[in-house]
Amino acid sequence: MTEYPSLHMIIDGEKVTAGSRRTFDVVNPATGESIGALPLADAADLDRALEVARRGFALWRKSTPQERASVLSGAARLMVERSEDLARIAAMEQGKPLAESRIEVMMNVGLFNFYAGECSRLYGRELVRPVGQRSTVRWEPVGPVAAFAPWNFPLANPGRKLGAPIAAGCSVIMKSAEETPASALGVLQCLLDAGLPKEVAQAVFGVPDEVSRHLLGSPIIRKLSFTGSTTVGKHLAKLAAENMQRTTMELGGHGPVLVFDDADIDKALETAVGGKFRNCGQVCVSPTRFIVKEDVFEKFRDGFIEGAKRQVIGSGLDDGVTMGPMANPRRPEAMDRLIADATDKGAVLDTGGTRVGNRGYFYAPTVLSEVPLDADIMTEEPFGPVALINAFSNEDDMIAEANRLPYGLAAYGWTSDVQRQRRLADEIESGMIGINSHMIGGADAPFGGVQWSGHGSEDGPEGVRACMVVKAVHEG
Ligand code: NAD
Repeated sequence: MTEYPSLHMIIDGEKVTAGSRRTFDVVNPATGESIGALPLADAADLDRALEVARRGFALWRKSTPQERASVLSGAARLMVERSEDLARIAAMEQGKPLAESRIEVMMNVGLFNFYAGECSRLYGRELVRPVGQRSTVRWEPVGPVAAFAPWNFPLANPGRKLGAPIAAGCSVIMKSAEETPASALGVLQCLLDAGLPKEVAQAVFGVPDEVSRHLLGSPIIRKLSFTGSTTVGKHLAKLAAENMQRTTMELGGHGPVLVFDDADIDKALETAVGGKFRNCGQVCVSPTRFIVKEDVFEKFRDGFIEGAKRQVIGSGLDDGVTMGPMANPRRPEAMDRLIADATDKGAVLDTGGTRVGNRGYFYAPTVLSEVPLDADIMTEEPFGPVALINAFSNEDDMIAEANRLPYGLAAYGWTSDVQRQRRLADEIESGMIGINSHMIGGADAPFGGVQWSGHGSEDGPEGVRACMVVKAVHEG
């Protein structure tokens, strides 16, 4: 039986415990009860981590591709061995069903193995020059990275934040969400146990604003990688501008799903219902605005309501549960606010709209239809188990609605018309689009958005290149 572990930071390979430091109460969202006390970094801890990261970069930038690959593939093997413990710890501190946290472990395994191969493919190019001259373009690691990972994918987010800098030859200081620290520590421990030098990757926790100001205020840090809300992302991008640090920003979305009358509606429903209630809707690429051709609107809405009612709600650790609690008390509060505002403005509440039980942060799977555009929920990312379903009469209006918001992370289209599939791919403004599919990721595929959803990519070769800079070398 997995026990929730005692908590610490990892600075210079040392497990730094609370001592006289401030602590943060980690809570099981299924019960609302405290399960651990997390030490928070003070300024001296952060200064120490920065100095270690500076040394770590000097060391790791000289590592061979084989050394980096060996650490990444070794960590992937350890993650498979520790899979069940990692998955249970993630479910305890984040709330998601075990089946989902097991998938997170395997996402990290896939990513680390892909990056292990990518280490040997960080090719530059040689320019065409007259005989006797040589000009090359080479890729070098950018330098120490400050990486901030949120709580919604407690294992996969840290995997992305650590894997890319390590593959590129950078050092990294990771501040993962204080709400889900043990999962992040578990991922880092696999890398350290696989032979990663202790100076190369560290984990700190703290008061987020203190940590980000301190790290980004240091010229030692050369890159910021952040996943979280657009509001915080804009704030951090401004801080990074002071030291001209490079940035990868994975921010919010408001996933449009276009469903046409020529689509396989049963398949669309099965996929969309599963996608919507996965991780209780707390997913940046969650399908959210369902933009449905009027001829199939009723069928689609009724099928979605049935799908919502089929969800089995409970602790993520219990067998058969398909939807756990929301991860923290801020989320049910946001759901109450957004749903009340929508119904006040005329939306139809088809099912859900209430909290479930009197302990933990459970929320009923919710469907709202005929939602007016001036409802806050049509603009603000709900980050919860709510589907918004509206009817439209033609393709142009459906595409216009998909592109209405300044977000552009993931979009989805359901249609059997090949020409229309191409039009959707061409005309929808987003970093990723799924056509008759919601599988829009993979270790080898760039993951990221446009406009207010951020910039840069994680995963794929692009994710490693984002931790590198080019240098042109001209020799006479
Ligand atoms: P939030 O916006 O305050 O925090 C989002 C994340 O940013 C958290 O992980 C938090 O620890 C971190 N953060 C906050 N302030 C920071 C700072 N000054 N410096 C560094 N990191 C900081 O609020 P929240 O309640 O945790 O989440 C609310 C919204 O954030 C959600 O509704 C959703 O829109 C968005 N979010 C997006 C993702 C994603 O995967 N893109 C993940 C989590 C949250």
